Amino acid sequence: MDVDIAVIGGGPAGATAARLIGRAKRETILIERNLQNEKPCGGGVLSKAFSEFNIPPSLIKKKVESIRIVSPQGNAQDIALDETFLAIVHRQEFDAALRNAAADEGAGIVEGTFTDIHTGGKLTTLTIKTAQGETSIRARHVIAADGVNSAVLKRMLGRFPRRVYTAHEIHKGGLAVDRCEFRFNSVTPPGFYSWIFPHKDGVSVGTGSERTGEVDPFLDGLVSALKLSPNVRRRGYFIPVWDGSLYYKNGVYFVGDAAGMALPFTYEGIYYAMRSAEFAVAALLEGTPALYKKLWQSAYKKRYLVMRALQRYFLKNDDRMEKLVSLYGHARIKEASVRLWCRDDMKINLVGGFSALIKKYAGA
Ligand SMILES: Cc1cc2nc3c(=O)[nH]c(=O)nc-3n(C[C@H](O)[C@H](O)[C@H](O)COP(=O)(O)OP(=O)(O)OC[C@H]3O[C@@H](n4cnc5c(N)ncnc54)[C@H](O)[C@@H]3O)c2cc1C
Repeated sequence: MDVDIAVIGGGPAGATAARLIGRAKRETILIERNLQNEKPCGGGVLSKAFSEFNIPPSLIKKKVESIRIVSPQGNAQDIALDETFLAIVHRQEFDAALRNAAADEGAGIVEGTFTDIHTGGKLTTLTIKTAQGETSIRARHVIAADGVNSAVLKRMLGRFPRRVYTAHEIHKGGLAVDRCEFRFNSVTPPGFYSWIFPHKDGVSVGTGSERTGEVDPFLDGLVSALKLSPNVRRRGYFIPVWDGSLYYKNGVYFVGDAAGMALPFTYEGIYYAMRSAEFAVAALLEGTPALYKKLWQSAYKKRYLVMRALQRYFLKNDDRMEKLVSLYGHARIKEASVRLWCRDDMKINLVGGFSALIKKYAGA
């Protein structure tokens, strides 16, 4: 089969890419290995994603209007999100709705697993395994949106993106939460945090680490500290660690987790996966691959660098985590970090302003 554009992976990045390509009236097929997939995920998405990508608000299971951060000594700061909120979605439903939106714009959806790629000629050849057997697809352009365990990246460059391992459990009942809580302390793995998030079916509790073996014992500790049942199914998965090195390679655009696009420190990836897809599609439709990196960097590079610097500095040890939480006692820090986190308002030099504030109050 020959096709103009093949998108591999039907999560937020791939489904958004296919939707935008379909809207531009270009021929595309989206290849997803499991149309019932429920990605292990906290499901927290910035509310602006719904208006920017025209996503039905009916997919929002819960609205989170405040965040609590807790220090090693147990001091807590509540951060009101004011004019915005964090929407909690159910990933199986959310991803399926995004793929349906792509189909409505004319994208073909194929259930199949990508296994191989041959680049170099005018057409890129993909090998796809479906329930009917193995098939070849030849595409003029390819978008790799197959997540953090990207088989496309592995086949092309022999590696996965750098990543942290995370695990979480969904507890039904026993703990009612209506805000997202982040705990920073030496009983969570170094450089990471633990989270307690509302979930469609109860509460999601989890943590992560670049050292995979550390995650289970730390999560056991959190489950026990919260007096939750120890017998709940635990699901683990990786989240990429951003390094900003991968956009386009040998005719293939890499987007979302496959390109390592999760925001440092918070590890949010859903919104940024969708935005990276939008930039890659703009470049593809223009016929200028370098435009992808340019658009992404102008929108997010500063924010990602600041978030990574904050993570490296403040999550180093308990003293610094204590300092981080105490900083949120300053109204200006609270307000500036909500703006940095939620808004794309770079005209007021948001990132520079935030860094200056942190330096002023923390001497960091
Ligand atoms: C435990 C956990 C909690 C998280 N919580 C949050 C959160 O609260 N908020 C947030 O913003 N982010 C969160 N993230 C990160 C977020 O899940 C990802 O950043 C986001 O899903 C990336 O979207 P994507 O489309 O790039 O990749 P994915 O969502 O991983 O989608 C990739 C798709 O490709 C398909 N695929 C994979 N391989 C193949 C193949 N060989 N052939 C065909 N299809 C294939 C997969 O089935 C999948 O549907 C969390 C991650 C984890 C692990």
